[in-house]
Amino acid sequence: MSIPDNHPRAESLRIRERIIEGMHEKVVAEAGLIAHGRGEAYDYILGEKTPNYAQKQQEVAVAMLLTSKKAVISVNGNIAALCPKEIVKLAENTGALLEINLFYRSEERVKAITSVLEKAGAKTILGVEPEYFETIEEISHLRRIVDMRGIYTADVVLVPLEDGDRTMALRRAGKEVITIDLNPLSRTSLWANVTIVNNVIRAIPEMTEEAFKLKNKNSDELKELINNFDNYQSLQETLNFMSSRLRELAEGKLEDPTKNL
Ligand code: ATP
Repeated sequence: MSIPDNHPRAESLRIRERIIEGMHEKVVAEAGLIAHGRGEAYDYILGEKTPNYAQKQQEVAVAMLLTSKKAVISVNGNIAALCPKEIVKLAENTGALLEINLFYRSEERVKAITSVLEKAGAKTILGVEPEYFETIEEISHLRRIVDMRGIYTADVVLVPLEDGDRTMALRRAGKEVITIDLNPLSRTSLWANVTIVNNVIRAIPEMTEEAFKLKNKNSDELKELINNFDNYQSLQETLNFMSSRLRELAEGKLEDPTKNL
């Protein structure tokens, strides 16, 4: 479907189209469409812009990736459909590995996502070859299958758009978890070490920019950034931002688009 540039919600509709196309190409699971809709609703509250609090969350997350022994970025269907090039670039600039890890796993989907990531420039993609599969026992579904060269032996895992069970299991398995989730109240958001409450479309390229900046800092400075961060405090700040935005709109900032009819 071609979306006219002057459509007031053109950008959001184009992104939605990418998710729908991704579903037709077997990259995105049906449940991925529902998750996307949930994300869009929260993004309205943010005004579809990166708030200041999210810049801080992104900075700390990148510091964690840069100071990790082994960082892995877990890729699912929505990420592959929405920002394949951007996720490959983030991995390259933080030294993180890319691993395909799916809730609704099938050979067909793994192949489709592998092909998207390869087209986006990924050279090494973990989570594909069965001879390297290991299981994380704490996880009850197909996502328990991880790559022994990747998530299984990683100290830091970035799980954008994750479900709560897996985040909890990764924490219990001793991993430091970073997530990107527009819902600050999801179990994932509450369980992660660092929760970035922002749209992955903005957060991922901004994190690569952040990596360029943070590469000039030494590891003590990066560790200080991480040690000074408290995820619960940060989620409270996020909720304060969301509630004050709603309050401002309720108290008069909401524009009436029908006033000149
Ligand atoms: P949980 O199990 O963590 O309580 P859940 O059941 O909602 O939450 P999922 O179905 O995996 O878990 O949801 C994925 C999450 O991703 C949702 O919270 C949704 O708001 C969020 N999300 C969807 N699209 C985006 C996006 N583009 N950027 C960031 N977050 C998004």
